[in-house]
Amino acid sequence: MKEEVKVSEEMLRFIKESPSSYHAIANAAGIYQAQGFTALDEKKAWKLKWGGKYYVTRNDSSLIAFCLPEDEKLVKGLHLAAAHCDSPTFKVKENPERKAEACVMLNVEPYGGMIHSTWLDRPLSIAGRIAYEKQKTGELETKLVNLDEDLLVIPNLSIHMNRDINKGAAYQPQTDLQPLFTAASEEKKEGGSLFLELVAKAAGVKPEQILGHDLFLYAREEGRLFGAKKEFILSPKLDDLQCVYSLVKSHSEVTAKKYVTLCAIFDNEEVGSGSNQGADSTFLEDVLLRMRESLGVSASKLKEWIAAGLLISADNAHAVHPCHPEKADPTNRPRLNGGPVIKFNSAQKYTTDGVTAARFRSLCKRAGVPCQTYVNNSDVAGGSTLGNISTSHVSIPSVDIGLPQLAMHSAVETGGTQDTLMAIKAMKEYFSE
Ligand code: ZN
Repeated sequence: MKEEVKVSEEMLRFIKESPSSYHAIANAAGIYQAQGFTALDEKKAWKLKWGGKYYVTRNDSSLIAFCLPEDEKLVKGLHLAAAHCDSPTFKVKENPERKAEACVMLNVEPYGGMIHSTWLDRPLSIAGRIAYEKQKTGELETKLVNLDEDLLVIPNLSIHMNRDINKGAAYQPQTDLQPLFTAASEEKKEGGSLFLELVAKAAGVKPEQILGHDLFLYAREEGRLFGAKKEFILSPKLDDLQCVYSLVKSHSEVTAKKYVTLCAIFDNEEVGSGSNQGADSTFLEDVLLRMRESLGVSASKLKEWIAAGLLISADNAHAVHPCHPEKADPTNRPRLNGGPVIKFNSAQKYTTDGVTAARFRSLCKRAGVPCQTYVNNSDVAGGSTLGNISTSHVSIPSVDIGLPQLAMHSAVETGGTQDTLMAIKAMKEYFSE
């Protein structure tokens, strides 16, 4: 099998096993564990050693892993990379069951900016985590849960009742984007909740033990290769689990030599990053401070390393859409399978400048990987990402990159079969410098 196909299939398996950000972080932690990284706990003291490899999670939904060179004297700076593990979806509200005619709907609210129509008429399920009370002690614990069955559908209104639907329909989330859960006759008459029963069963606890939940919908569609030569991939959550997988895989497999290497996977990018565990939190600063203190490194030495360091912020990029070439910049035309994309924006929504772009180009050259460039068409407002949010906490030279894709924020997105392997090669070159 060709190497790029093997890597793409591994990446698609990672996405399949990551139906929520909590699962993505658990799977990333599993990859680090398998490579001999030691788990740290934010609630306990850290005793770090030079030459060590560590990772720490926050809120079960963000992770920072780092690898230390053999000796402080070898260190020339920090090599950081960051990506985000959340994707647009719907969050299950509290008390979600709602009787509507002969059906029970599940009350959900949008999380992030998805393409609404792509979530309709396809099988959906639920994954996330619960907080529950342990039976004898009453202690609170969290547990990941995946209902892992075809459970829900958000049905469209038929064209006969909505003649204008093909003229471009606006969906109202509270009215139109509510999934069908069960037939009303199946509803429990008094007390009890069939929804909580199913969640409890999947988690292996009793419904009354569940005191809180963070549960999200996910599309049941499994990632696959397609195209006449299988040159494309179709999968939920390519933005940004394709980058998450590329960073975690490359970072976990190489030993730090002259740079302290760090990989940060943040939650909540799709809703602005402003949470306890998002890129706009102190998570990265806190990890750097505790690392420095545990190793006995002076504050000014850490500042030297930051100044000599680099952040590669990796969040997927728009390839030129073949039916809408006019939406793309006239001279920067990323394509699927063309390799990692450097993203530029004069207003600094993307942090890249001439020097950091040159640093990324130089490492792609050394890795034997092509790279492409993205700039917004100036008449089309673009998106934003986590690079400039992260650098507002740890000010470090930074470059924004991503892998080229189509249909960003659709329930299933399209990418290139070769791009994941190219990203891994470039990032391995970076982390092993
Ligand atoms: Zn993204």
